[in-house]
Amino acid sequence: MLDVGKYVRLLASYKPVAQRCPHCSTNTFSASGKAASCNFCEQFVDITVAGAQAPFAVVKSQVDLKDWSSALKSADQMMKGNADSEQLYLLGVFYLNLSSMMFESKDYNLSGFMESNATSIRTSLDLTMKWKECFFKVVKIVGDEQKHNMQIDPALVFMKFMSEIRLKRLVDAALTLRELQGLDKRGTLSEYALLVYSVEKNTKQAEVSLSVSLAKGEINAYYYLAKYLAKHNKLAEAEAVLNKLGETANVSMSRELLYRIRLTEEASKM
Ligand SMILES: [Zn+2]
Repeated sequence: MLDVGKYVRLLASYKPVAQRCPHCSTNTFSASGKAASCNFCEQFVDITVAGAQAPFAVVKSQVDLKDWSSALKSADQMMKGNADSEQLYLLGVFYLNLSSMMFESKDYNLSGFMESNATSIRTSLDLTMKWKECFFKVVKIVGDEQKHNMQIDPALVFMKFMSEIRLKRLVDAALTLRELQGLDKRGTLSEYALLVYSVEKNTKQAEVSLSVSLAKGEINAYYYLAKYLAKHNKLAEAEAVLNKLGETANVSMSRELLYRIRLTEEASKM
């Protein structure tokens, strides 16, 4: 069994180093400057490679200013007729995050389109349709390319995998994981994907993958540790991991998990 206390102490000992993700332009944190996965889009951030300016940067800069209505307008504009798998993937992550924030909206300052709870729930449902559409398109576009291109960039196959995970298509994700393992010579993306898959599917591999990634100082692995603990009904431990994680980095998925854990804990007190 994983020694959760040990990992929480390890997390507390990190001096997180901020770096700009070249994919989504988020300021993402890695433990002591090691190469790692982005806290927002989960794509691999190699700090030795200078980042290109992503078209998604406009949306992200509005998110950073908490100007949600402008960010939503820019994203909707960017989505129109867009057939670029990476841009669609980033839009999917953006809509997914905004959708869960809307749903838990009470604590957020979502000015502009937050007149009532009914509005926020309706907006959340609209956003859910959008993130699903984005991820379905990524699956289709990358899947089509895989049919013609045996040497496809593993980063594209990784995005297809993460899209399938978010759409909860675990059978498809298992096949994509196998394809990724065959393509990814460096092993970085397939190792991360195996971690994600084993935690989501709750297989025996999960503890092995978690130990490997946590030992390497992969910050996002703490989110998956919390998810694993929550799936095993260890809610207090999962919450402790997420709270400590929140002091270190802004991992986009962790907010929704923390919200659901707290809801479950409150319900169990009734
Ligand atoms: Zn990113």
